[in-house]
Amino acid sequence: MPDKVLVLNCGSSSIKYQLYLMPEGAVLAKGLVEKIGEACAAYKHTDDGGEQAGKQPIADHREGLAVAVKCLTGSKKPAIKAMNEIKAVGHRVVHGGEKFTGSVLVTPEVEKTIEEYYDLAPLHNPPNMTGIRAAQQMLPGVPQIACFDTSFHTTLPEVAYVYALPYEIYEKYRVRRYGFHGTSHRYVARRAAELLGKHKYDFNAVTCHLGNGCSMAAVAAGRSVDTTMGLTPLEGLVMGTRSGDIDPAIIFYLAGKPEYKSVKDIDTMMNKKSGLLGVSGVSNDMRAVRQAAAEGNKRAGLALDIFCYRIRKYIGAYAAVLPRLDAVIFTGGIGENAAPVRAKIIEGLGANLGITLDAAKNDAAVFGKEGDVAAADSRVHVMVVPTNEEKAIAVDTYALSRNKSVSQRM
Ligand code: ADP
Repeated sequence: MPDKVLVLNCGSSSIKYQLYLMPEGAVLAKGLVEKIGEACAAYKHTDDGGEQAGKQPIADHREGLAVAVKCLTGSKKPAIKAMNEIKAVGHRVVHGGEKFTGSVLVTPEVEKTIEEYYDLAPLHNPPNMTGIRAAQQMLPGVPQIACFDTSFHTTLPEVAYVYALPYEIYEKYRVRRYGFHGTSHRYVARRAAELLGKHKYDFNAVTCHLGNGCSMAAVAAGRSVDTTMGLTPLEGLVMGTRSGDIDPAIIFYLAGKPEYKSVKDIDTMMNKKSGLLGVSGVSNDMRAVRQAAAEGNKRAGLALDIFCYRIRKYIGAYAAVLPRLDAVIFTGGIGENAAPVRAKIIEGLGANLGITLDAAKNDAAVFGKEGDVAAADSRVHVMVVPTNEEKAIAVDTYALSRNKSVSQRM
């Protein structure tokens, strides 16, 4: 029987939501409530009845969710007439630590564990939990499902997730590589296998999620076996404002210098002032960086070069750890839209790895188009697959709300 499933992504001051008709996977409505807690909070809602938008004080997530439900039921062509039509709610939760190897039905025990991971994701897990509580109050008795950014990567082997620090640090503090963007890596790997007509367990790929945050994963036979983000999303690729990999000794070297009196200052510098923004001095936005580079800004050009070089390096590294490389998959705002960036990443991978692009196909695969952009004689497919984390959450939510199990594999 078709069911309506609400998907929520709650940040510290925002709620993004989408209402899905399942199992079709059709989006019936979507919206955003932002600046929660501020006097000038705003909401925007779209469905078949058109757009509703406005500004009003919204004190907390519970009020924000009430605004969303009012839009859902109060539209000219409402996707739901009453709240009891929502059969399940799926929540994006950033950190599921080692315990959550897949999406789960929220129980008091699950809530407790999500809270235990506040320490690991202080900016994300608390608002994610606030969203779960708000939805529980608003829709009592409706199954709430938690889908974790980390769970797809819980299949990483020890050799990929243990840092070469004293082992007791892992045992005592669970300091290890967790990885993030798992819902996206899983979704695009599966979709690429489908598009190529490959069985998902006979498919090995490198997935590149390139948005504001950027990460890559090595996916072997449906399982994530390595990924670039670590204990936190700071490790790995160059991102909009994050440095990605650096020599950790840089932190000790900078500590105490006039601009970096505390560890917090260095944390802010590496998370908020580095990456494309830090190197270019122009912007964290790839469009602005490319524009500046095209106009001759040397630092913008360098930022772009470092961004692409780091990804190319990881493609090589992951080709070495996979049993075979069938496809490189691009997704995220940059991966889906910036054809010249894809071309720059793949440039030079022909001779070594047999990965070459078809320039015309690559140029055409933008703005939501999906497909294989590899040259006819490329040994490896190069796929562009728009990500859809909300849909992946809706699929898991629908399955779990009907007591069906979900796999942690793609
Ligand atoms: P988030 O990680 O916040 O979900 P997105 O996946 O939307 O972000 O990606 C945002 C990034 O995508 C920005 O750097 C933006 O400049 C880039 N982007 C979006 N469209 C284009 C485009 N046409 N060309 C180049 N970069 C683009």
